[in-house]
Amino acid sequence: MELRLYDTLSREKRTFVPLDAKDVRMYVCGPTVYDFAHIGNARPVIVFDVLFRLLRHLYGEAHVKYVRNITDVDDKINDRAARDFPGLPLNAAIRKVTEQTGKQFHADVDALGALRPSVEPRATEHIGEMREIIERLVAGGFAYVAEDHVLFSPQAMNAVDSGLPRYGALSNRSLDEMVAGARVDVAPYKKGNTDFVLWKPSKPGEPSWPSPAGVAAQGRPGWHVECSAMAWKHLGEHFDIHGGGIDLVFPHHENEVAQTCCAFHRERMANYWMHNGFLQVESEKMSKSLGNFVTIHELLAEWPGEVLRLNMLKTHYRSPIDWTTKSLEESARTLDDWYRVAADVVPGKPAPSVIEPLLDDLNTPLAIAALHGLRGSDVGALAGSLRLLGFLSESAAQWEGRKQQASGVDAKEVERLISERTAARARKDFAESDRIRDLLAAMGVAIKDSKEGTTWEVAR
Ligand code: AMP
Ligand code: ZN
Repeated sequence: MELRLYDTLSREKRTFVPLDAKDVRMYVCGPTVYDFAHIGNARPVIVFDVLFRLLRHLYGEAHVKYVRNITDVDDKINDRAARDFPGLPLNAAIRKVTEQTGKQFHADVDALGALRPSVEPRATEHIGEMREIIERLVAGGFAYVAEDHVLFSPQAMNAVDSGLPRYGALSNRSLDEMVAGARVDVAPYKKGNTDFVLWKPSKPGEPSWPSPAGVAAQGRPGWHVECSAMAWKHLGEHFDIHGGGIDLVFPHHENEVAQTCCAFHRERMANYWMHNGFLQVESEKMSKSLGNFVTIHELLAEWPGEVLRLNMLKTHYRSPIDWTTKSLEESARTLDDWYRVAADVVPGKPAPSVIEPLLDDLNTPLAIAALHGLRGSDVGALAGSLRLLGFLSESAAQWEGRKQQASGVDAKEVERLISERTAARARKDFAESDRIRDLLAAMGVAIKDSKEGTTWEVAR
């Protein structure tokens, strides 16, 4: 069985062959930590977590390295720090913002059942690597210094005819068209209108570091070079998979490829470029102004993390996803059922019927259909497959207990009513037993009678 992955660069599904099967390497662009992460941000986290788990299953846990960075240098972070902590010096305020948001991000994604990546590098801890890449680019004639900035020239890159990729190849754009279509009011220090920033001067009070390439003023890196530096440090000049949301293909990933390949004279940075589609909410683009902007944190107050996870995986990662309450309710009912039948059984091996669709470019909707099939035929395999996909982190009792708590149902009161009803039935007082059943139903509790007695659960 082989793994096939869709590669954005070659625009086709290709068989995955790792550079080194003992050291499979994946980089995914992580969050910029200035605010609560929204449910769109959860999509790459969940999708690439499934890929991480699948790669560990195929190559062994010790042989897969997953790097997801934390961007902690950014204008949005600075703005937030100045707004939320006006009494503190800016650098101390920035530390507060990035620490708090970073912690919140971890709490959120842990609850979604995502494994922690092997390394979570922070941009501020890799300034040395960024400076080195920038120095190499200037020395190689791909970048230049102007007014305390260092800029990358895509045209200088495309002037080299061999050994490097074309600028524009990943996002399938032509540099000539980009040059022709670029805005006219470009910054005066740029030689070409498609040149992008590798390094820029810091404003007074902003975080700053000694600059590369002989620039005297202190400065800070551009966003794109941060990921080139962190990927290089932890995965090398050339690695297997690079992922992120589809919005990052241009300019972020196009520029990462340009920086890394020109700095190290390579034709490739990653062998497979993978991008998740966008998430919208109740058929509308998610935005603060539309009032449909939902954070992971808010959703977790209402739904268990595994419900959010299942709901995300019901759609193939490359398709757009419409996030709706109706679909969440369905996902919750499915998980209630799977918890009841599979959470407490000894897990068997994950079923081939679940693994096979995953091997075909992470076809999670088909894998989920296979889970429904196993429900009636092999609960051991259902349990093993669910665990592989990051579900069943609790026992059936914990799951049910959480549901009761969330619904505000008083379990003691329910038990008391059920024993009253059992007594009524024993004395054949069916009017009374029906009354109690209706009362429980009105409380949101469903009961089921069997030979062993009466069981109950909170109805969704
Ligand atoms: P950001 O913090 O905005 O750079 O985003 C972090 C990650 O979330 C990136 O991989 C983005 O592509 C991804 N992302 C942001 N918004 C959405 C969305 N609405 N749907 C899917 N992915 C998203
Ligand atoms: Zn990145």
